[in-house]
Amino acid sequence: MAFTKELRTELVSLLGEDWVKDDPVTLYTYRCDGLTLYTAPPMGVVFPGNRNELVEVVKKLHSRKIPFVPRGAGTGLSGGAVPREQSVIIEMARFKEIHDIDWLNRTITVGPGVINLRISEKVQPDGYHYVPDPSSQKACTIGGNVAENSGGPHTLKYGVTVNHVLGLEMVLPDGEVVELGGKTFPIAGPDMLALVIGSEGTFGIVTKITCRLTPNPEKAITLLGVFDSVHKACEGVSAIVRRGIIPAAMEMIDKVTIYAVEQALKPGFPTDAEAVLIVEVDGLEEGLEEEARASEELLSEAGAKEVKRARDDEERARIWRARKEAFGAIGQISPSYYVQDGVIPRSSLPEVLDKIAQVGRKFSLTVANVFHAGDGNLHPLILYRYDIPEEVENAHLAGEEILSICVEYGGSLSGEHGIGLEKASWMDSLYSSEDLENMIRVREFFNPGELLNPGKIFPQPGRCAEVKHPAAVPEGMEKPRMVAAKSGIAV
Ligand SMILES: Cc1cc2nc3c(=O)[nH]c(=O)nc-3n(C[C@H](O)[C@H](O)[C@H](O)COP(=O)(O)OP(=O)(O)OC[C@H]3O[C@@H](n4cnc5c(N)ncnc54)[C@H](O)[C@@H]3O)c2cc1C
Repeated sequence: MAFTKELRTELVSLLGEDWVKDDPVTLYTYRCDGLTLYTAPPMGVVFPGNRNELVEVVKKLHSRKIPFVPRGAGTGLSGGAVPREQSVIIEMARFKEIHDIDWLNRTITVGPGVINLRISEKVQPDGYHYVPDPSSQKACTIGGNVAENSGGPHTLKYGVTVNHVLGLEMVLPDGEVVELGGKTFPIAGPDMLALVIGSEGTFGIVTKITCRLTPNPEKAITLLGVFDSVHKACEGVSAIVRRGIIPAAMEMIDKVTIYAVEQALKPGFPTDAEAVLIVEVDGLEEGLEEEARASEELLSEAGAKEVKRARDDEERARIWRARKEAFGAIGQISPSYYVQDGVIPRSSLPEVLDKIAQVGRKFSLTVANVFHAGDGNLHPLILYRYDIPEEVENAHLAGEEILSICVEYGGSLSGEHGIGLEKASWMDSLYSSEDLENMIRVREFFNPGELLNPGKIFPQPGRCAEVKHPAAVPEGMEKPRMVAAKSGIAV
């Protein structure tokens, strides 16, 4: 169902013809986010250009009881921006303004549509950066980061989004505008700001974000441990943490992913290795060399065949590009893959990684691993062929099994990608019904009637999320093609 004629006319008179869309190609494009296993076309998509327009849009939809879903860049991997009901998508990409840089308080205030990496690019010449650096940072928006409480490789030492956002402006589902926090810590009373960060676009639509700016480290040293087993690489992670060293980042890349990034980006990783572990230490120059040497020794003791060191900034950038673009590189060997996101206690990494490999074998699917090892935040990538229904089903089952292993080992359903639509029906494996009811009560305080982003985070009785893939392609549009994998690696 598209917009009614009356609603469309009202929205067009408010936003202009260009910013109200309900043609088949738009509806197809916005049917999913980065998690393509779950799709549903919206009623239409609107693109407000400022807060006042947003407030008016929200009031119109609210008064008609039409559900609405905020959306940033659509890189989310848990279906958070997928319309659950026949909903209107409110695309926030036009909120790109950099409102203010306050050097005294070391903050930057931006619109939610600003791309994550733009913030660091903006303040880099002055020796600062914005810490949370999701691997999707070239594309994802800061609004989406706030909604998901995003992390990244360098959040191991420095903390995730909630540790770097000081204030928010937000439009509630009835159109009221509220401000939370400011430019300085601490907040008096209950920390409502922290409650909103990570609420996955279900408490309000964020319109302004004040971020903390962090001085660049004096120096960074990047190591690459080369291992002949993932198990040993995981031991390397534990050894470093046990010694009391907190690197800025510790990232694991397994054999399948090494192969993919070498095909796509040629970072120079050894293709005969079973795993490489990127370890970066940073901070004041004084003492850093000792930390790097200790890490090198610990990696060798854990069984590394070789520990390399990035010789210069160029080599360091090459290593990081390979890590951050690894998901995209996997697309070259298997256009369809299901990214899982679970978190486990770091101490269980070796055992859980072995179990994940077993799950792959059980479902005859290749599972690639590239993840934030230092946080115990796993990202198994389950490769499947989208045009073979059993493989689609098996990918889903394998993902579910991997998550239940994470929970069994004392971990959780999501390390950073959120619960969204994907994992809502699994939340009762982690929480009692009383806990869930209490959390739903908190949501009701912000979002009574659940018109804002319905069906997310919490299980809906009798309404498990269905796997629908692929969605109907609108007439005249080419069906996505399965590109045969030439890799020699079974997909
Ligand atoms: C290749 C790749 C790598 C990734 N790596 C990481 C990683 O390292 N770390 C990590 O944490 N995540 C990672 N992600 C996941 C994703 O990029 C993040 O969750 C990101 O924060 C989503 O931002 P977005 O702008 O794309 O949001 P969207 O996908 O558009 O939306 C995500 C959620 O935010 C809500 N939302 C969006 N804008 C607003 C707003 N203004 N107000 C309120 N709610 C809003 C939506 O309703 C939805 O629930 C990765 C994804 C990909 C595809």
